[in-house]
Amino acid sequence: MTDTIFQQIINKQAPANIRYEDEYCIAFDDINPKASIHILIVPKKPIKMLAECHSEDQHLLGHCLLVANTIAERLNRLDNYRLMINNGAKAGQEVFHLHVHFLSN
Ligand code: 5GP
Repeated sequence: MTDTIFQQIINKQAPANIRYEDEYCIAFDDINPKASIHILIVPKKPIKMLAECHSEDQHLLGHCLLVANTIAERLNRLDNYRLMINNGAKAGQEVFHLHVHFLSN
């Protein structure tokens, strides 16, 4: 199966403006921003969508939210950001590698 574009970015096989990275996740600018700041927080574990997460992913999911705080702090946006997850094609999900949208104006 071909890797998603996000897996290619994780593997450094595709370019992205990386804002944050650690052993569990990577965060980079959305190529088609819907706000002045639009960053995607992507767990490195290849989970297709939120509905495929289980109890063993609890730490990873919480970690992604705390990474949002780290990014917000760096961008001086701790009191001004929103997060969004599209779950499934019917909800607008286009890339089937779990990701959290971080948006701020
Ligand atoms: P979804 O609709 O799956 O929740 O969000 C996918 C997001 O990935 C969209 O906002 C889209 O603009 C972004 N995206 C799609 N392809 C690329 C890419 O090649 N690079 C980056 N940085 N973002 C992408």
